[in-house]
Amino acid sequence: MRTQVGIVGAGPAGLFLSLLLQREGIESVVVEMHSRKYVEERIRAGVLEQGTVDLMHKLGVGERLKLQGLEHGGIELRFGGRGHRIDFRELTNGKCVTIYAQHEVIKDLIAARLAAGRPIIFAAEDVSVHNLEGASPEIHFRANGISEKLECDFIAGCDGFHGICRPSIPAAALRIFDRDYPFGWLGILAQAPPSSHELIYAYHERGFALLSMRSPEISRLYLQCAPDENIANWADERIWKELHKRLETTDGWNLKEGPVIQKGVTGMRSFVTEPMQFGKLFLAGDAAHIVPPTGAKGLNLAVADVVQRFSWWMTSLLHRFASDNPFDERRQLAELDYVTSSRAAAQTLAENYVGLPME
Ligand SMILES: Cc1cc2nc3c(=O)[nH]c(=O)nc-3n(C[C@H](O)[C@H](O)[C@H](O)COP(=O)(O)OP(=O)(O)OC[C@H]3O[C@@H](n4cnc5c(N)ncnc54)[C@H](O)[C@@H]3O)c2cc1C
Repeated sequence: MRTQVGIVGAGPAGLFLSLLLQREGIESVVVEMHSRKYVEERIRAGVLEQGTVDLMHKLGVGERLKLQGLEHGGIELRFGGRGHRIDFRELTNGKCVTIYAQHEVIKDLIAARLAAGRPIIFAAEDVSVHNLEGASPEIHFRANGISEKLECDFIAGCDGFHGICRPSIPAAALRIFDRDYPFGWLGILAQAPPSSHELIYAYHERGFALLSMRSPEISRLYLQCAPDENIANWADERIWKELHKRLETTDGWNLKEGPVIQKGVTGMRSFVTEPMQFGKLFLAGDAAHIVPPTGAKGLNLAVADVVQRFSWWMTSLLHRFASDNPFDERRQLAELDYVTSSRAAAQTLAENYVGLPME
């Protein structure tokens, strides 16, 4: 087999790339280790920047997004028992973010690619990349029990943080910049209408909490927890109790509960590898970088490799660190006060959240 660009991984990075190349008349083959069903049902991110939404429309894959996406013109920062709205539309000349689950984006991208008759090889086994510095790099894999060799002009390593492309680059050729955070997020998906029209980021003495959503019927909620938190210690009742405590306000706001349909603990990390190219292999998305989810950037970065600073800043602003002393706590509250009372500070948050220009 031969193609111009061999793409390893059918996540957002690999699939967006395949459609962008297709638009430019460049041939590609996507090689994915999981089944189509698996990747279309994998629950992950859900906040799309304005630029990601615009790109989906440009690529002709925005029809369902237009019907089902929930536009959010702001977020709420909640601290000291009160909510403070950051108005994105007002602060960024009308831009907003859109809530539309990552697996729905994946369904749209896969459908468009297959409808155009372009190949995605699902359930590929033993995927490996070779001859990266040669004229014709290769992707080796097994499909339906048969060993295949795909010769390419270039390879795009879009196989996520745990993929095989980055580790195929000699360690001496890479420099890693990273930061591990001393906490994780305990996340639940609940069959409950969201208790707020927009996302709520809560800073609380017991730790950070986030109220988010995936649809008008499904809420997504998170609690700051230990990085190695054992989810077995968290019965649903305990999770709701803690969410109530961290999100409660002095004006009687009410958190709506519902059956928990999924729960898990996610680690928090900032990670960037440099360079993101070795020979004819180019890394994109989580294969090249990871951000903590506080700034809702992971999926969007997979679409447009951009900045780390904002995700680090949102994380540092809103979480309790074990090393914090009373000075740090007051400093965080002073910064939250500043962000919610100064137009200049709110605008900085808003323009980063809705997404900096992709060019
Ligand atoms: C549990 C979870 C929750 C998240 N929640 C959020 C959130 O709320 N907000 C946010 O902004 N971001 C979130 N993220 C991050 C976001 O989902 C990722 O940043 C985004 O998926 C990155 O896209 P990608 O295409 O680079 O990688 P991925 O989506 O990881 O796609 C990589 C693809 O490569 C495939 N693959 C891996 N290894 C191989 C191999 N050897 N051969 C072939 N294929 C391979 C994988 O199966 C996968 O389909 C979350 C991530 C996780 C894991």
